[in-house]
Amino acid sequence: MEDTGRNIRGTAPIDESSHFNQIKLNLFCPDLRDTSTTPLNFTKSINLALSERGINALRHSQHPQLVNSIIVETIPMYGRMIHGLSTTGTPTQSPQAYDVHGRHISAVDRGGLNKRLLDELEKMPNVEFFFNHKLTGADFQGRKAWFEVRRQPEEKSGPGHRAPGIEVSFDLLLGADGAHSAARYHMMKYAQTNFSQEYIDTLWCEFTIPPSLEHDFRISPNHLHIWPAGDFMFIAIPSLDKSFTCTLFGPTSLFENLKNKKDAYHSPLEDLFTEHFPGIIPDLISRQDVHEQFNRNPHLPLINIKCNPHHFDSSVVILGDATNAIVPFYGQGMNAGLESVRILFEFLDDHGVYAANKKADEVQQARAAALAAYTAYRVPDAHCIADLALQNYIEMRSDVRSPIYRIRKFVEETLDRYLPGLGWATQYSRVSFGNERYSKIAQQTNKQGKILAMSLVAVAAGLIGGGGGLLARRWYHARQGPGWLSKWLMTTGREVEKRGR
Ligand SMILES: Cc1cc2nc3c(=O)[nH]c(=O)nc-3n(C[C@H](O)[C@H](O)[C@H](O)COP(=O)(O)OP(=O)(O)OC[C@H]3O[C@@H](n4cnc5c(N)ncnc54)[C@H](O)[C@@H]3O)c2cc1C
Repeated sequence: MEDTGRNIRGTAPIDESSHFNQIKLNLFCPDLRDTSTTPLNFTKSINLALSERGINALRHSQHPQLVNSIIVETIPMYGRMIHGLSTTGTPTQSPQAYDVHGRHISAVDRGGLNKRLLDELEKMPNVEFFFNHKLTGADFQGRKAWFEVRRQPEEKSGPGHRAPGIEVSFDLLLGADGAHSAARYHMMKYAQTNFSQEYIDTLWCEFTIPPSLEHDFRISPNHLHIWPAGDFMFIAIPSLDKSFTCTLFGPTSLFENLKNKKDAYHSPLEDLFTEHFPGIIPDLISRQDVHEQFNRNPHLPLINIKCNPHHFDSSVVILGDATNAIVPFYGQGMNAGLESVRILFEFLDDHGVYAANKKADEVQQARAAALAAYTAYRVPDAHCIADLALQNYIEMRSDVRSPIYRIRKFVEETLDRYLPGLGWATQYSRVSFGNERYSKIAQQTNKQGKILAMSLVAVAAGLIGGGGGLLARRWYHARQGPGWLSKWLMTTGREVEKRGR
């Protein structure tokens, strides 16, 4: 052990363990693997979508068995399944593949993933766990942090209830303590931080579609199911126990309205499902369950956080939702967090922070330079995915049904499939199936959009020009004889009628 311990907190990753002499992993929560601590009061969805960036970051941990053990516990989702109503009023399902090359995102159980990561970390001789330790203060110049040690995370602190505290010295503190990060709060007293936080006007509530009586999935397990409804939507993601974890997203006013029971026979909640989410009640969730789940499960807000810088000097760097909590509509929050970890440690390596035979002050200088370079590189991407995630809410809840959206997807995918040399791809496939920088993807998507718009204008101008030329020729010939105006109108009318058929 070095003269000072090196401290990682929160959901910090596996691959870094090899970089540190001693890691103290302080977690506010109890050990998730202990069954007496579950079920936890989750404020996050039960399952989530893991995509290439997250998997790539895990691959960089150089623990292939870890990646494999996570992947075998996932369910591939090859596309969206859009639910709607036919003109005759029967429920319909239209699949929309995510990717022209057949790639998929994967549904993963949040608890299972956390447990796998903890199991792997526990095997490492230089990692020590400290559960129920809550960061309450930090001095990032003196490199000291203070933690409250609770018997249970919900144990109250305050006058007469103060949990005992401890002081910890560290070289580097990695703050991965979520959207309401204490590490960020204390870092902001040292670093000149630009920070913005926005609650969007959307709440979410979780529902479950249970397995069928034959213990099978009730709808396709290989799709992310969406019931788009304009300003709100309902989605369902498969789970390994053959249930679906579903989420209702909608504006606060919708949630308020759903709480009002009109009379004994009509409930706005049932009306909402019947009108906008066809096929759910009673086939997938019973009437009674819909009510029970809506009343039992919390109605939670969504937050969008941007922060710059992500570090102070050589002593602290914050990661994951602590730096950029984003809305969940691109399924990228966790994936981006894992990617940040990979990139951070690439910067630390590139700056030789862990090179052998470095003196302590040289290590600190190298680390300060690495963290500064990391912030400069990562901030634009963190901000970009926050914006893309907001835009994707509109795509999911409404655009997926629009012909313009589908035409653009078709054109981009056709070019991707048949003319790969052009480098075209949909924004979704670039974000979910590659590791390109988010900011580059946004630029590329804008460029493709402009080219498509210009091509459309050119085609429209060609059609109008062609049609205009034809009309002008007819007009010229018709003028040669008597009654030319009526003749011109008649021939042109017949032509229009013929084309219309
Ligand atoms: C409805 C919903 C659906 C989502 N779906 C997806 C998806 O499909 N794909 C995806 O990639 N992302 C998804 N996300 C986002 C994803 O959940 C988050 O981005 C991810 O959990 C962030 O991980 P984190 O470790 O940074 O923070 P958190 O998961 O919030 O973990 C923070 C940890 O820090 C601990 N902590 C907090 N305060 C302290 C303290 N003072 N001292 C010590 N420890 C502390 C907490 O106990 C916790 O263990 C979704 C989010 C929501 C809300």
